[in-house]
Formats: sequence, C-alpha cells, structure tokens
Amino acid sequence: MIVNTKNSAEYFFIFEPLSSLYYPDSDVNFKRLCYYAGMKGRAPGHIITVDLEDWFHILDVKGGFSRKSWSALNSKVEKNTLKILDLLDGLNVKATFFCLGFVAEKNPDLIREISSKGHEIASHGESHELIYRQDLSEFRDELKRAKQRLEDLTNKKVFGFRAPGFSITDSSMNALRILAEEGFLYDSSLFPAKRGHGGIKGDFPDRPFRFKFGEGGDLTEFPITPFKVLGISIPFSGGGYLRLFPAKALLFLFGRMSEKGRQAVLYFHPREFDGMQPRMNLPLKRSFMYYFNVASAEEKIRFLLENHEFKKAEDFIFDREWLNELPEKEHL
Ligand SMILES: [Zn+2]
Repeated sequence: MIVNTKNSAEYFFIFEPLSSLYYPDSDVNFKRLCYYAGMKGRAPGHIITVDLEDWFHILDVKGGFSRKSWSALNSKVEKNTLKILDLLDGLNVKATFFCLGFVAEKNPDLIREISSKGHEIASHGESHELIYRQDLSEFRDELKRAKQRLEDLTNKKVFGFRAPGFSITDSSMNALRILAEEGFLYDSSLFPAKRGHGGIKGDFPDRPFRFKFGEGGDLTEFPITPFKVLGISIPFSGGGYLRLFPAKALLFLFGRMSEKGRQAVLYFHPREFDGMQPRMNLPLKRSFMYYFNVASAEEKIRFLLENHEFKKAEDFIFDREWLNELPEKEHL
C-alpha cells in the first residue's frame, strides 16, 4: 500500500486498526507504520513540563474543593513529585516545573530540591484561578507575587508561565502582554483546540512561535500542539489525552512532530503518578478526564522519555539559533 506521508496520522488512526486484522503482530505493524511515515529516528527534542499542583487542584467543578479548604486536605504533592524526580534522574532528563504558588508556599523545600537537581522552576500562578475570570490588575498582582516567591526560594530567575486550565483564551489574550511586561520570556498557556477551560480559535501557528508586541518586546509561545485528522484538531501530549492514547500511538505522534522539525509539549501532573490518590465525587465527564487510566500515565511517560529526546523549555529559550527560526505573530 502506498501512503502519502502527509496523511500518516489519518493512516494510523483509520487504516492501521483495519490492517491489524491481517497483521495481528502489533510490532510489525508499528515498524511498517514508521517506515511509511518516513521516521528515521532523528533526534527531535520535545519539551517536558509538569504542572506542580495537588490532587485537589481541580478547576471550577461541583464536587471539587474550595480554596479555603485546601490547607486542611491531605497533601500528596511532595510524595508524587519525588516519584517524578526519580524517573527523571534515572533517565537524565531535565524538565520544566510550572509551580503553583499555593504549593510553593506550603512546600518550599520541594521547590528548592527540584531546582537543585537542574530542573527549571516556572510559574503556574498563585491561586489556580482561571485567567479569563480575573481582571488584568488582579492577574498582574498575582503574577508578580508568585514569581517573586519562586525566585526567592531558588535564587534563580523565573522565565515561564502556564495558566491554570490553559485559560488564556481569545478573550484574555492581553494577559500575554502583561507576562512580557513582567519579565517573562515565554508562555505555555495556549491550547489550539476545543477545551473545557481554555482553547483558542484564532489563526495561530501549530508550533512554537513568537508574539511580537507593537511597541517592541516579544514573548515566545509554546502552544499545546494537537495533530489534525480529517481536519479536526486532536490534542495528545498530556493530561487525559495522553492517558487515553496507546503508548505506541503517542510515540508515533511525537515522532511525526519532530519529523516536521517541531516541538511537542508533554505535560502532566504529580497526581498522575498516584493510582491511589483520594477520589473526588465529580460529574461523569470530569471524572472520566480526571481519573481515566491514571495508572497508565507513569509507564507511558517513561516510554516516551526512553524513545524521544525531551528538554526543559529554558533550553530552547536561550538557543538563539532556534529562537531566530520561529514564526512570528503580531499581538493585537
Ligand atoms: Zn493547574
């Protein structure tokens, strides 16, 4: 069968399951697929990120916990983060940790330990509030406070930000300008697909790019890049999506991104390293996305890290050559 490599994502999700009926040996199928897709094992260099928060930091849901109750809950973030650090140490991978202000305040030693191991400390905001529900002065105040706390703990500059729930949307894009004004060099909050608390519809490059602001200055954006099949954008690189896809499909999709010379952003949470975490009584859909296949995340992440190259965002930000090749977009 001759397959256009451009459409190999379609091939993987439509024809491959059919051909499996004739070739039940999945390894044979996988190698055949990689051959068709033209993957020759080129070192890709994707971005690995962790949203450092606890099992109860779910957004905006009936059945979740209010902010006032957080301090009284049984925190698991340290135990689960130590498991992540062990995994990364074992594979000699350095990651970016987007740290929630609440977690940093309660676990200062954990933040210092992550930093001392050579990982990057970046900000996940202070209160885990959705950005489009905050006014801009509130957003700026929280941003400054959270950044300062992390910098005081590590004696290192914080360069990156990720909004809770990827909540920088078409209606809250001005938050990006504030990030640049407050000394951030990059953001990883844009989610160019449909999503409960985030998602953007505008015309954005489907790869890392630079926002140019009219009066000068810029901000590098690491969007969560979906793949397209039959014109539909499907995220794959983190959260419930990562837990939904089989490991080999993930390996293939990350491989396709690197073949195109692009970086995918892997993202996960400490709670995804804890099959025994306390369960909240959530509505069915949220419960599915929050808990589905939680026990599979650690092995899938290990599999990806063993088979592709991953780096922290900071490594890209200070690579002048890489930065100069990024597409640019005017920020209106
Ligand atoms: Zn979060």
